[in-house]
Amino acid sequence: MLFNEIVGQDDTKQLLLRAVQTNHLAHALLFDGPQGSANLALALALAQYVNCEDKQPDDSCGRCASCVKMQKLVHPDLHMVFPVANMAKGKTSEAYLADWRKFLLDQPYRTLSEWLETTGADNKQGNISAEEARNILQKLSLKSYEGAYKLMLIWLPELMNVTSANALLKVLEEPPAQTLFLLVTNQSDKLLITILSRTQRVAVSAFSDEEVATYLRQHQNMDETTARRLAYLADGDLSEALQRSRTETSGGESSDTHTWFAEWMRTCYRQDLISLVKQADQFDGFSKEKQKGVLEYSLRLYRDLFLWQQGASALLRLPDDELAFVKNFAKVLTIQHIERIVADLNEALYHLERNARAKMLMLDISLTFSRLIRS
Ligand SMILES: [Zn+2]
Repeated sequence: MLFNEIVGQDDTKQLLLRAVQTNHLAHALLFDGPQGSANLALALALAQYVNCEDKQPDDSCGRCASCVKMQKLVHPDLHMVFPVANMAKGKTSEAYLADWRKFLLDQPYRTLSEWLETTGADNKQGNISAEEARNILQKLSLKSYEGAYKLMLIWLPELMNVTSANALLKVLEEPPAQTLFLLVTNQSDKLLITILSRTQRVAVSAFSDEEVATYLRQHQNMDETTARRLAYLADGDLSEALQRSRTETSGGESSDTHTWFAEWMRTCYRQDLISLVKQADQFDGFSKEKQKGVLEYSLRLYRDLFLWQQGASALLRLPDDELAFVKNFAKVLTIQHIERIVADLNEALYHLERNARAKMLMLDISLTFSRLIRS
């Protein structure tokens, strides 16, 4: 991974580059950022940079033997540990290494649930076992093959159990020479204090809406409007934006959530019962994911409408179509109405998750909304 493949994060990149260039790199770094941030990507970019044979001022060269192997995640000095579920005794995450590389090479903005799904362990919990920790120690006792650094990347160390965390702590206290630990966490508050105190924290902020939209345009060939809308919904979580973009593109006709939502609200406003039934049928035909997406989108907009009514318009970063909706509906809805609508949407989401009939749910809230909007 090159630094310049990562959108934004300029300060953090400079900090890491300077630390390497001035020989001030700590032996253990904690990339601490929320889910869907660049924490894992930055760790991978740093891993590549430290062993690059032709370091450039702002990035790895991308062409030397080390870079070529790092880019495929097959460098013999790169060791990676990640949570797995349901592992047979004595086995470690190494058994999933091929899947893991493919998963990261596809794109490095990933969540635990995506990973567990990939390994066929959907409803299970992932963890990093004690065997895993023993395996870490064994690997690090080996000499580095070719690189300047042996690298140990640990994804989600907060999922280590006490035994494995303590084993890790021991190595962090007495680190083997020329070894760099890259811990990538989404929940640093769940790490042992002693681990925190032995790592240098690299704070990674969530992506801005602008950065998420830029990524979607560049990597998903998405048009400006859709990219901005997905960025708005994902709230800085790039993995969520990417998941939404998959639902969006697999949605077929009427895949544009805002268009559907706007039409729905207009129909409610007109109190056009026949069209409302038609729309409820349409909603019923959507996939479950898409149905949830529509309701979550509506909820987000009504919450923003609420903020707007309260005079907090400065807090809103709305794309154009959404802003137009908020401005229009702010004229016809009172705070009490909005509160009621938000409550109804929440309840509809709750029942949808529990397999209520989508058509009935939709018709039910449509009738309530049209009554509220017109009252
Ligand atoms: Zn290189």
